Amino acid sequence: MDIPIRKSWGQNFIIDKNTINKIVKIINPQIDEEIIEIGPGRGAITMPLLDKVQSIVAIEIDPLLTQYLKDKNKSNLIVENIDFMDWSPSFKNKRRVIGNLPYYISSPIIFKLIKDERFNEIIIMLQKELGIRMLANEGNKDYSRMSVMAQTFCEIKYETDISKNIFNPKPNVDSCIISLKRKKSDLDFEKYSKYIRYAFQHKRKKIKNNLKNYISQEGLEKFGERRAQDISVEEYIETFNKYFF
Ligand code: SAM
Repeated sequence: MDIPIRKSWGQNFIIDKNTINKIVKIINPQIDEEIIEIGPGRGAITMPLLDKVQSIVAIEIDPLLTQYLKDKNKSNLIVENIDFMDWSPSFKNKRRVIGNLPYYISSPIIFKLIKDERFNEIIIMLQKELGIRMLANEGNKDYSRMSVMAQTFCEIKYETDISKNIFNPKPNVDSCIISLKRKKSDLDFEKYSKYIRYAFQHKRKKIKNNLKNYISQEGLEKFGERRAQDISVEEYIETFNKYFF
């Protein structure tokens, strides 16, 4: 296959059979499900999954890789050549999403996934550092906007470490697999997302500085002296409901 590797698209392909088997096992494919894959690349995960699910819709930014997969003529594989960030899915039912995410755009992809309620379970490979950040608790140096957003809307599980040695080309850092299961929530995503963004705007400043124009006086008095990194997810949800304008 003579398709150039595009580093700018975060192309690090899995080349180890054992790892692929491990990933498929974690995904635990169901024969009647329609699954979404982000960045199928050369089909390392796609191909072994195809026999185990009803169908796969794969979203790939690289036109050459898209054509390469289309040429496999698999009746239950649909490959769409589009940037995942521009993709507006038309299905209405809930679906699972999988993917070995391109590193350069992992965080925006995760935010898009968390926001869309149709994605009820998300199993992704990503940089280990980002995985750790998603799972960090308050008081930890890795606790961030990403931790709060992910943990507010999903149950998160750290599935396994993935060594950088199983990729071609080999990236500089190790990876991990994280799974997210959507929680029931009636929060307004956009509004809550704004709240958390403001709260973490200046990590070291007190909440009264970051949120002074956005929450009630009562809120400022109750937790204004604290810092964003020391406030738990439960407290964020509670204070959002009580004090955010
Ligand atoms: N799934 C393959 C594997 O595990 O070997 C490839 C994974 S590689 C880390 C990331 C894949 O995502 C590449 O195929 C890349 O072209 C594709 N990609 C990069 N940016 C994308 C985007 N914004 N939307 C959709 N696909 C993207």
